[in-house]
Amino acid sequence: MKPSKQPLSALNSDSKFLNSILQPPCEDLSQGDFFIDAHCHLADSRLDWRKELEEAAAENVQKVISCALSPAEILWHQSHLDPAIAWVAGMHPFYPAGKEITLDAIATLCQKGDICGIGEIGLDGRNGDMETQIKLLLPQLDLARMYGLPVVFHVVRWHYELIRLLKRNFPGVHGIVHGFDSSPEAAEAYSRFNLGFSLGCKSPSAKAVAFITARGLFCVETDTPFQKATDNMKPLNHLNQLPIAIAGITTRSGLSQQAILHRQKATLHSLGFLETS
Ligand SMILES: [Zn+2]
Repeated sequence: MKPSKQPLSALNSDSKFLNSILQPPCEDLSQGDFFIDAHCHLADSRLDWRKELEEAAAENVQKVISCALSPAEILWHQSHLDPAIAWVAGMHPFYPAGKEITLDAIATLCQKGDICGIGEIGLDGRNGDMETQIKLLLPQLDLARMYGLPVVFHVVRWHYELIRLLKRNFPGVHGIVHGFDSSPEAAEAYSRFNLGFSLGCKSPSAKAVAFITARGLFCVETDTPFQKATDNMKPLNHLNQLPIAIAGITTRSGLSQQAILHRQKATLHSLGFLETS
């Protein structure tokens, strides 16, 4: 997939950008409408990727955005080209040292147009060394800016530290905060940027979901094989669990499945993860 050709200035003009996606939801599903799993790790060796996609399709999940975090996972995605799979690559802030991919490898993927975004990258408060994480993060944000690519953020605890860093250095960033489960205040702070929220099987509070859905820039994810719903006793999460994430939004916001479907699609297209057909 080629890097987005949309100039970043267009993405930054807040009102124009948001107005383009905050149209009233279309409740009538046309044939061919489907759900998209906005974040998963399909190259995980514990998964049978074909079975995952088949079982997801049975739940009307027909597209996924998968994530490569190691050289082996890059190779996996390059050798499993499937119209159902788009993918991003990045240096995760909490990844075994020496196993992660290099900045050069990400730059090459950007040049070749292999990836639809950079991620998951960010700050993880469980892994105490913020300085090292910031050193890893900044050049990846530079690459995203250079190629006009969206970013998938992974953030644990250090939301406001990331927000400060973006405000200072990358006010034009665009992308999603994946697996968002923080406060309505944090959601509001992220919303000063062209950032949407990817909501998983562990939804944030009703107040946060109400804010996010009213703003309209959001999508849904399983983070397969991670981030199971709390009452899911299976060892791994799977793509066919996406309805749990959707139900979490429906319960907390009152939005219909059709409305969620419309918004997630508009969000992922508007942010540049998926090409508009
Ligand atoms: Zn993930």
